[in-house]
Amino acid sequence: MLYLHIPFCKQACNYCDFHFSTSTTYKSQLVKAIVKELSIRKQYLNTPITSIYFGGGTPSQLTLDEVEVIFNSIYNNFNVNKGIEVTFEANPDDLTLEYLKGLKSLGVNRLSIGIQSFREQDLKSMNRAHSVKQAFDCLSFAENAGFSHVSIDLIYGIQGLTNQDWVEQLNTTKKLPIDHLSCYSLTVEPKTPLAKAIENGKMEDISDDQSADQFEFLQSWALENGFEHYEISNLAKEGGVAQHNSAYWKGAHYLGIGPSAHSFNGISRSVNIPNNTKYIRGIEANKPEMELEEINTDIRFNEIVLTGLRTKWGVQKVELIKLGKKYVQHFQQKSLVFKEIEKMIETDSAFILPANAWLNADGIAGKLFI
Ligand code: SF4
Repeated sequence: MLYLHIPFCKQACNYCDFHFSTSTTYKSQLVKAIVKELSIRKQYLNTPITSIYFGGGTPSQLTLDEVEVIFNSIYNNFNVNKGIEVTFEANPDDLTLEYLKGLKSLGVNRLSIGIQSFREQDLKSMNRAHSVKQAFDCLSFAENAGFSHVSIDLIYGIQGLTNQDWVEQLNTTKKLPIDHLSCYSLTVEPKTPLAKAIENGKMEDISDDQSADQFEFLQSWALENGFEHYEISNLAKEGGVAQHNSAYWKGAHYLGIGPSAHSFNGISRSVNIPNNTKYIRGIEANKPEMELEEINTDIRFNEIVLTGLRTKWGVQKVELIKLGKKYVQHFQQKSLVFKEIEKMIETDSAFILPANAWLNADGIAGKLFI
């Protein structure tokens, strides 16, 4: 699996703590550095590439020529399996029919579009760069350009978004040419403009009860409307499950390219420096700047529990067995209490949370950690 982090955004959304810059001064150097990093790190994975994901930041801030240069480097340096999922994150205001046709001809076959809300007041309060009209327009452009796999992001728990508003947002998606929905609860990350506005009393705090209610609405809406809720934040129509993200949650190895990108080879995790100019300098000097984290078995166990319990596949017994008897016993013993109160189901192959426990999946995982 290959992930590429494109660290540019037109403007800063107030809730965002990802690595990005609103200045494109170094964009061409950064694209060159990405091209070079692909070459420097081509031995990192010992297997062919099984999915490609352009994330960010905002990959649609790249020109088609820049996207093509990156694809050329991928195909020159890696053995890429045929017919794989190639996802490109984009924002509505960047998407024209011509741009989308260009992406399609370069090999992108799945779009993940940051729509976030179909209400102007929400887009404004989150400082999104696009309008509701642009959201609808880009979806029809995507359909006309021939994309059959389209995901959109929506955010719930926004101040002033009533439960009725949220259900209307979800119902709006029924008419859209999409096969995947990613729905996130608005969270207040430290040091973001949102956190500061709440601290200064300029915005009201978000309500945990509102987010919880809206998550439950999402669960029942999905059941009634043909979307499978396969991961806490992700829902798909038949055939729409994201291959790249699903493999990531199941513990697949991946190479991350670009500033702040993470890589995982089963033994260690590395994180590229989250600073565009330092990243470029490191790559130019053939010394990529990154931090390494050795993954011991305890850490791996906790990761498997945390990611597994957030999915419909649950924690696979085979994964625990691979870690050793101690970990199987620990999980079995700690999970007893949740089985007794019917917040965990044990099947022949996995431990799975039932729908009524998903809201508290992270809390339950925390109680099972070693
Ligand atoms: S467009 Fe995405 S990455 Fe950029 S600031 Fe907004 S949420 Fe963050």
